[in-house]
Amino acid sequence: MASCRTCSDAVSRQVSLRLGALALQTRTVTPPRRWIAAVFGVMCAAMINVGSAGADPPPVSALAQAAGLVDVRTVVPDAMVDLRYATADNFTGVALYPADARCLVHESLADGLATAANQLRAQGMRSVFWDCYRPHDVQVRMFQKVPNPNWVARPSDYARSHEAGRSVDVTVADGHYGWLLDMGTGFDDFTPKSLAYAADGLTAGQQANRALLRAAMQAGGLSPYVGEWWHFDGPGAKDPRPILDVPVS
Ligand SMILES: [Zn+2]
Repeated sequence: MASCRTCSDAVSRQVSLRLGALALQTRTVTPPRRWIAAVFGVMCAAMINVGSAGADPPPVSALAQAAGLVDVRTVVPDAMVDLRYATADNFTGVALYPADARCLVHESLADGLATAANQLRAQGMRSVFWDCYRPHDVQVRMFQKVPNPNWVARPSDYARSHEAGRSVDVTVADGHYGWLLDMGTGFDDFTPKSLAYAADGLTAGQQANRALLRAAMQAGGLSPYVGEWWHFDGPGAKDPRPILDVPVS
């Protein structure tokens, strides 16, 4: 079962990446391309559902468990996990996590993320996780690449936000096809269009999609970050805590 789940996770990641590209094209696709996209979507949805219908995720490491971290799939079984920092498809251009990294979140977020996922599911949507717990050394490498605290949190002597497993970077996918909703920008798009409440350059539909995501996350008690539409903080995310260094796999 483990190898099956690993395989299906990998498929889901590839599918969501490709579907993300497709989603951004949906406003301009011609009928033939739309037909191809629909067929492809059915095929991919079937593969994604295989991935989410498996057994419970394996236990997290003893260190992660001791820190109160849980695999997000234990609380959101149909979560689409596409950890960009486990691939080179991120703003640094290199993989910062091991390929088998998973989305770990602090248990204080668990109920809220489940609530958010329930709200999205009721609208035919699924939660997509781009980043969760982030080890301190990865934060350091990110800041070296983009030393702008407006976009990348400056590493400190304490763990906050992602470094404490108390923030998540998320988006929304269609629950049937797995297509990402059009939010107007991709992940880690360091432009003013990424501001959570940006209006310039965004269509009404893109703003509505962001509002849909915010409403679900806020229903779960997570707070939007005005600087990035995809980032949400759980309770106490900004409180300084001891540096946390546990395996992200
Ligand atoms: Zn974030």
